[in-house]
Amino acid sequence: MRRKERACRECGRIQDGDTCVQCGAPTSANWLGYIRILDPDKSEIAGKLGIPTKGKFALRIK
Ligand SMILES: [Zn+2]
Repeated sequence: MRRKERACRECGRIQDGDTCVQCGAPTSANWLGYIRILDPDKSEIAGKLGIPTKGKFALRIK
């Protein structure tokens, strides 16, 4: 499994860049686990974590 992906330190969004495309915060290469949000309006987890958009989000960021 390639691990070139990085997670935003603020919102947890997983992406390639050094800066989050969603909130502009710096990203980290050290993260553990992720959830995939397909429909943020219907997802209980998305509501609990405060995730407004669909995509992949890291559960733990170091
Ligand atoms: Zn972010």
